[in-house]
Amino acid sequence: MVAVSAESPVDQYQTLAYDTALSTVLAVLVYAVVKVSLDGIRQWRARISVLIVGSGPIGLTAALVAVRSGKVLKLTLLDERYRSALLCRPQQIALDPRSVRFLLDLGVDFDNMEGCWHNEHFFTKIGVFQEYLLSILEQKKKKVDVEIHLGTKFSEEYLRKMPRGEWPRVIVVADGSCGDSCSVLGISSDYIVESCHAYGANATIERPDQRQVPTPEIRAHSLYFDLSAYGIDTVRESRRSSQPAAKPGFHLKIYGTFRNRCMALACTSDADSKMMHFLRHTANSSIMKNIFHQSFNAYKTDIEPRLSELTLHHMQCSRKLFQIMLSYRRVSAAYIEGDNVAVTVEGEAARVLNFDTGCGVNLGLRGLESLGLFIYRTATALDQNDVFEALSAKLQHSRHVAETFRKSGLASAVFE
Ligand SMILES: Cc1cc2nc3c(=O)[nH]c(=O)nc-3n(C[C@H](O)[C@H](O)[C@H](O)COP(=O)(O)OP(=O)(O)OC[C@H]3O[C@@H](n4cnc5c(N)ncnc54)[C@H](O)[C@@H]3O)c2cc1C
Repeated sequence: MVAVSAESPVDQYQTLAYDTALSTVLAVLVYAVVKVSLDGIRQWRARISVLIVGSGPIGLTAALVAVRSGKVLKLTLLDERYRSALLCRPQQIALDPRSVRFLLDLGVDFDNMEGCWHNEHFFTKIGVFQEYLLSILEQKKKKVDVEIHLGTKFSEEYLRKMPRGEWPRVIVVADGSCGDSCSVLGISSDYIVESCHAYGANATIERPDQRQVPTPEIRAHSLYFDLSAYGIDTVRESRRSSQPAAKPGFHLKIYGTFRNRCMALACTSDADSKMMHFLRHTANSSIMKNIFHQSFNAYKTDIEPRLSELTLHHMQCSRKLFQIMLSYRRVSAAYIEGDNVAVTVEGEAARVLNFDTGCGVNLGLRGLESLGLFIYRTATALDQNDVFEALSAKLQHSRHVAETFRKSGLASAVFE
């Protein structure tokens, strides 16, 4: 007896079509799951070697960011200076609240660093900050292959000696405002120089008999100076300012340790008074010295000695007011074809102000906010296009940092 199927040819065709569609969907799903898992595993396993040039505050923080990214197999950190020279820098830095949060996320324990808090800012010396970061990096050696070469200059000779197959995938150039590592790597040294719409002057007072401990800064606003002896009336002009939160008149900041005192005097270019015009063009350098002298004595802390005619020679200052300018590299991220190396330039090597605000290091730390993602994207890149996209994002962020500072950086650093 022959069994006859009850299904018509149309039903049979529909079932076949349904089965085929189902198996295709299943195959695609399995492929997608396997691919995603393999990509996930590849991304998870991806590790690269990173070279950081310069162990200043920015280079050392960059090293910490690299280790934290979880994508670094080998980290090499260089500085041409030896340890003692690197850590003896007396300048005091003021880490603003945003930098403090950034560093806390990187595992920095401020309770274990010599310094003091004031208005949510942390004040410490550059050398202390660098020593602390170096000690954390030493501890990371158990997890990541970290090599710290102090007293080693990054140069053409250093590059020549590096075996071709052992080039890092990422180089972070943080060699400061005088470094020439970018030219060693063939990166353009073209700078964009833009006005911050403000004028300023700096002074430093070195008093070896005074304490070298971190000290909170002092700020004073809406200052006018009596320049009637030079034929200048003290007219209190109150104009709208292009700098957010900027009050009229001059702004003074006294910062640094009692031994290495620094002063920054600034005003916005909107306060275009006779006084400002006079101080910008005077050939008499003793006027600026006088202003800093009087301002220091008026606003210093009670426990530090006054500056007298006898001790005035301890003070060095700008001869006149100058325009505050921000210079930043046109090319702060680049790709070295052939060697497959992505380079990013950070800190003062990337952007620098011609005016010391006492918190310049924060500008460098802002740039590092995109470094972790950059290292992650470079490490997990499938091809050159992915690396280019990572470089382009880094470049954009670097420009954004400079632009934001130019618009509002002085407000938070000096004018508020
Ligand atoms: C006189 C003065 C006073 C300042 N006062 C203050 C202040 O009060 N508060 C504040 O926040 N900031 C201050 N600053 C600014 C502060 O020093 C910088 O913001 C900060 O140091 C920048 O850090 P960086 O890591 O980018 O560069 P740097 O600190 O300059 O570090 C760069 C490092 O790279 C190394 N290097 C250079 N070339 C090479 C090479 N080819 N190979 C290997 N290593 C190399 C250098 O030895 C150096 O250690 C002051 C700066 C100056 C000059």
